[in-house]
Amino acid sequence: MFWADEIVDNILETYTGRNTFIVRDEKTLSGRVHIGSVRGVVIHGIIAQVLKERGKEAHFVYEFNDYDPMDGMPKELEGRGFNEYMGKPLCNIPSPDGKAENFAEYYGVEFLGVIKEMGFDPELPRASQAYKKGKMNDWIKLALTKNKEIREIYKRVSGSEKPDHWSPVQVICEQCGKVGSTDVLSFDGEKVKYRCTKAKVTWAKGCEFEGEISPFDGNAELTWKVEWPAKWDAYDVTIEGSGKDHNAAGGSHDIGVEICRNISHTEVPFNIPYEFFLVGGKKMSSSKGIGQTARDIADQLPPEMLRFLMLKTKPNRIIEFDPEGETIPRLFDQHDEAAKWYFHEGEKDVVQTDQARAFELSQVRDETPQERFLPRFSQLVFIIQIPRLDVYGEVAKIKGAELTDLDREEIDLRVEYAKKWLENYAPEKYRYVLQEECPASAKNLSDLQKQFARELADMLDNLDNWEGETIHGQIHNLVKGNEDYTPKDCFQTIYTLFLDKTFGPQAGWFLSALDKDFVIKRLRELT
Ligand SMILES: [Zn+2]
Repeated sequence: MFWADEIVDNILETYTGRNTFIVRDEKTLSGRVHIGSVRGVVIHGIIAQVLKERGKEAHFVYEFNDYDPMDGMPKELEGRGFNEYMGKPLCNIPSPDGKAENFAEYYGVEFLGVIKEMGFDPELPRASQAYKKGKMNDWIKLALTKNKEIREIYKRVSGSEKPDHWSPVQVICEQCGKVGSTDVLSFDGEKVKYRCTKAKVTWAKGCEFEGEISPFDGNAELTWKVEWPAKWDAYDVTIEGSGKDHNAAGGSHDIGVEICRNISHTEVPFNIPYEFFLVGGKKMSSSKGIGQTARDIADQLPPEMLRFLMLKTKPNRIIEFDPEGETIPRLFDQHDEAAKWYFHEGEKDVVQTDQARAFELSQVRDETPQERFLPRFSQLVFIIQIPRLDVYGEVAKIKGAELTDLDREEIDLRVEYAKKWLENYAPEKYRYVLQEECPASAKNLSDLQKQFARELADMLDNLDNWEGETIHGQIHNLVKGNEDYTPKDCFQTIYTLFLDKTFGPQAGWFLSALDKDFVIKRLRELT
């Protein structure tokens, strides 16, 4: 069974009779969002979608965390005067472009673009609003009064010993506006005394102010490991997965569970731990300025393909994605294979059924997938590099039938991404220039190779139809017919003469795409 269906089965067993589900995830908007965060979006978005398929009311809630302190400098902001904001809540820092409402929103807008393109439409509460509207007040009070018990949980679960003066609550300093630098000194049930400490953290400098203030309604923030179970409660979360780092033994999830059980006596949501999404290809950031952000990678793949990439692997398996090399053409091939199984009417085995489901859930354009011809990405890559080829005409030939409007739409989309791939990632072996003149390298072909070229010309001259399959078969017959010929030498002859390369696309189809007279003339040009 497909993993999302299996998880939803488990959820429905866990919550028998329940009809409404809150599926939550969050992202701290402290810089451009990494592509890895898209995995969380897709997992939670799909679980909500499958719950709806089962007739349940499911709310996908994606919190933009804009209340954490700025604790690192995004690369693109180095030297741009943002040092003074280190330690302040992200929503209280100006937007780098001066246009967005604040720093967090600036990065949130970019990420939201990717989320929406991928067909997800979550509710987007802001953490700052949860604090300011008092949603977190009960938990702030609990954290301040049960400080000692929370410290004991930290120690028991993770082995981390916090000093006596440690508090899970941090006040936003009234003088300098920083939250990362403050220590709570005492709590009288209504107000806290606090100090803004110069060297509490390395990334922000406190102003040494001491004050007294109510910690409620947005004046203070909870530390992450307490804030997490607080949010489970405040948002009535039923389902919340999280990355591997949070789910390590003694990690933040374990601590959250203990706090729920022993301190707040609140529900622990259904957990979906998921593995990392790793991006390879070191070259990519330097050579073309393409990075590993969600926006950068989403620009290189159609939204369906990005969804498929995230869905085809179970959450408990690492996804390694290296946009260099053949990864992208291979992803298209895997997607097309899955599409084939979706539309296949006969029997399917378990793997094929799962592939079909992954394809179905990858859809962005149509809720029910519409069948269309899916031209192979690597073939399109070739076609668009040969100026004399008409893309629609060639694809129609490959399809063996007239193109429909949906076919054309698909071709246009794939051509757009094939161009991007050629520009940014395609290895040398996928780059072709049709040689309008016989290349100089043809002189280096052996006598046997030249003989093959002549024989091939004669054979093609006598062919009645100029179709890839026929040419393909004839080339193989010719190669087999002479024991001195090797397939390698023969195919190399073709690629040398037409592409000035020793390799190329499938030769029969490739030659059929060219003008017959042009092909025969070139093959005879050596003698
Ligand atoms: Zn201060």
